[in-house]
Amino acid sequence: MRLILTPHAPRTEGAQRFLKTGPKRLFIDGEWLDTAETFPSHDPATGAELAQIARATQADADEAVAAAQAALTRPDWAGMLPAARGALLWKVADLIEAHADELAELESLDQGKTFATARFGEMNGAIAQFRYYAGFATKLHGQTIAPSIGYAPPGKQVMAYTRREPIGVVAAITPWNSPLLMAAMKLAPALCAGCTIVLKPAEETSLTAIRLVELMAEAGLPAGVVNLLTGYGHEVGAALSAHPGVAKVAFTGSTEVGRLLLDAARGNLKKLTLELGGKSPALVLDDADLSLAVPGVARGIFANSGQVCVAGSRVYAQRKIHDQLAEGLAKQAEGMRLGHGLDPESELGPLVHEAHAQRVAGFVAQARKAGAEVLAGGMTNGAFHAPTVIAGAAQDSPLLRDEIFGPVVSITPFDEIDEAIQMANDTDFGLAASVWTEGLSAAHRVSAAIRAGTVWVNCHSFFSPELPKGGLKESGWGVENGAQGLENYLETKTVCMVI
Ligand code: NAD
Repeated sequence: MRLILTPHAPRTEGAQRFLKTGPKRLFIDGEWLDTAETFPSHDPATGAELAQIARATQADADEAVAAAQAALTRPDWAGMLPAARGALLWKVADLIEAHADELAELESLDQGKTFATARFGEMNGAIAQFRYYAGFATKLHGQTIAPSIGYAPPGKQVMAYTRREPIGVVAAITPWNSPLLMAAMKLAPALCAGCTIVLKPAEETSLTAIRLVELMAEAGLPAGVVNLLTGYGHEVGAALSAHPGVAKVAFTGSTEVGRLLLDAARGNLKKLTLELGGKSPALVLDDADLSLAVPGVARGIFANSGQVCVAGSRVYAQRKIHDQLAEGLAKQAEGMRLGHGLDPESELGPLVHEAHAQRVAGFVAQARKAGAEVLAGGMTNGAFHAPTVIAGAAQDSPLLRDEIFGPVVSITPFDEIDEAIQMANDTDFGLAASVWTEGLSAAHRVSAAIRAGTVWVNCHSFFSPELPKGGLKESGWGVENGAQGLENYLETKTVCMVI
């Protein structure tokens, strides 16, 4: 493992100032509030404490939901012209852009990812989210309908129209792997639709959510429209997901917690979008351009140290190119330089914490014990886990069935394309897949046959706000992004009248 760990401090004044001031507080109804208890957030590379964060309780959840409910109908929000709402979203995007280096430094320190990943992948992604939905605020149209109702009083007629109305208070509960981007993917469409929000970031990585909410307040969002509750999932996350005042939970996280949210939603039949785990396959056919496939498949699994929901963690390689691909992936893995996320030389940072690195290592140990061959990597150091390539693991082994959420990929040979499709679909998950081929027919045929919310051809993990993103099977319910993603935050009301 090429690990060179030199601790780095943030260079932007904004990030330095943010880290100096503390403890971090809750944001409810336009006010920053202290809590009785706090919890620490750490730099996973060094273990150093970065900040103390407010630990929200059930009472805080009640207060934040009440503030969001009140804001929903207050004229400063409910009466805001759609164009003004769009302009506000655009302003949030401008503020993220102006503070993008600072936010990326905070993300890198808190989560471990490299500055480049945070800055150019995720901050740019968050900016794009707000700009995309800013444009939609003026395009939320209903329909006029001429219903075939024959029993109107003589001389009268029936007409109807639909209104698109905000669904209400949204609880946005987000994971630790791409914190600011995941928050933006919920905040932007929810605000575009006119909803109000209580944001609950993951306890491991709350810093950029706090800074984002500061910037949103600076943009001029009315009090109560966005509220922030930091704290633990089983405490404040559970309180929000069962809260009768919350109309919808927008959740990204594990399938396990997704199931808990289903139960919690029963009380008031909350609407749910669940963006959950994955075990995404990459199918590399004999005719693939390996000069694209080798680095592309490697990036598809190793980016953000494999802590990506759509990570291509199962590679199926057609027999003729299998050895060359395996060798290429192993070479890519061995060549990667691991280090502190803020070190400009680092290509991979640590995992989110040491316990997670140990969990990932457990899968590698289990595969080794079962006779699989580790072609590259396989070792850990603190929270760091080497990018790892494993051959010869069985299709029904935990390595190929469970979401590892680390930089570990299996490679399995196949002969016929149908065999690869069958293995790719042999999973409880259905989030994403990639197909690598120069053949037009194979590209379309395999894309259609794979049961996944997204299929990429000759690329992996390509995202944009226009592209709907959702999971099939146990990878979730509903989609985020695009026009379809906005539907999650809107309700249709039919107005039918005799005139
Ligand atoms: P997690 O499910 O442990 O936590 C996600 C969020 O849920 C956190 O904010 C957490 O505090 C909260 N939470 C935990 N217990 C809760 C409870 N009982 N009630 C309410 N909220 C609760 O997930 P994680 O470990 O933070 O993130 C990793 C997971 O997220 C992986 O499974 C990954 O695949 C998934 N993910 C999915 C997507 C996607 O778009 N499908 C994107 C990113 C991450």
